[in-house]
Amino acid sequence: MSQQVHVFNQETIEKMKVYYEAFLQNPPPGAQFRAKTDKAVITAYRSGKVLFQGSSPEEEAGKWTDVKSENEQLAKGDKPKAEHSYTPPGSLFKNSHIGSDETGTGDYFGPITVCACYVPEERIALLKEVGVQDSKNLTDEKINVLSKKILQLDIPYSLLVLSNDKYNRFQQQGWTQGKMKTILHHQAIVNVRKKIEDKHLAGIVVDQFCEPHVYQKHLQTENKSMTEQTYFMTKAESYSIAVATASIIARTSFVKKMDELSEKAGIYLPKGASAQVDRAAANFMKRYGKEKLKSFAKLHFANTKKAYKYL
Ligand code: MG
Repeated sequence: MSQQVHVFNQETIEKMKVYYEAFLQNPPPGAQFRAKTDKAVITAYRSGKVLFQGSSPEEEAGKWTDVKSENEQLAKGDKPKAEHSYTPPGSLFKNSHIGSDETGTGDYFGPITVCACYVPEERIALLKEVGVQDSKNLTDEKINVLSKKILQLDIPYSLLVLSNDKYNRFQQQGWTQGKMKTILHHQAIVNVRKKIEDKHLAGIVVDQFCEPHVYQKHLQTENKSMTEQTYFMTKAESYSIAVATASIIARTSFVKKMDELSEKAGIYLPKGASAQVDRAAANFMKRYGKEKLKSFAKLHFANTKKAYKYL
């Protein structure tokens, strides 16, 4: 057994946790998570240190150290390195392609919204010109404005909203959030492909939330198979204008749904999963009872339990 230790920033550690979702185990004290794959046991500590131990820890560690250096290279304008068969070729971002992204997965209240959209080559410059970029760096108001501009450009897209009722039902049936996301991304991509018919398509980029083989496994369990020319990439919204556009449409829809839910409840329902969210959940339950919460929140989140402290 050998081991490797690397230090990563919190953002990468959170991506890792999502990536290894299907392999999570009980974490030891001081650890953020522990996952066990057939190659290694991965333990991420609060300090940012990540320990890879097992038969071939370098294979798991390499996924993250490579992503780190790949992102650095991309930031300098280099082409992405073809580290596995699902990494998009650098030329794809300048060509007509589909991108997909989602919002709402880390938010206790509200649905998951997933969008896939097709950006033809001749629209890439225009979308950049109107200011489409990584929506994580934009305020909700700015996203709303951009979303209106995108709609005026007639960009073919498919937006899917998984309501809280449905989310909780799937979760009770044993679906992981990763599986829900996979099926939603896949369906949105299929919808967009139907819309564009035989228009030129150089490929599809999914903003990566799990390992490609896990994505494929989820599809197989529902008798679906992955669309040809599908690529995966973390932080894809920074490189693909189609993913950035999809991200803005998904985010706009999520914000709108959150406003609607707050209005319906007569209580302000905050985004995220903070202690403020626990208090809002407690207020909600005081007024309507727990049963009704299933139409507003992702019940399996720890916030449900934490909310009882305030009752
Ligand atoms: Mg994403």
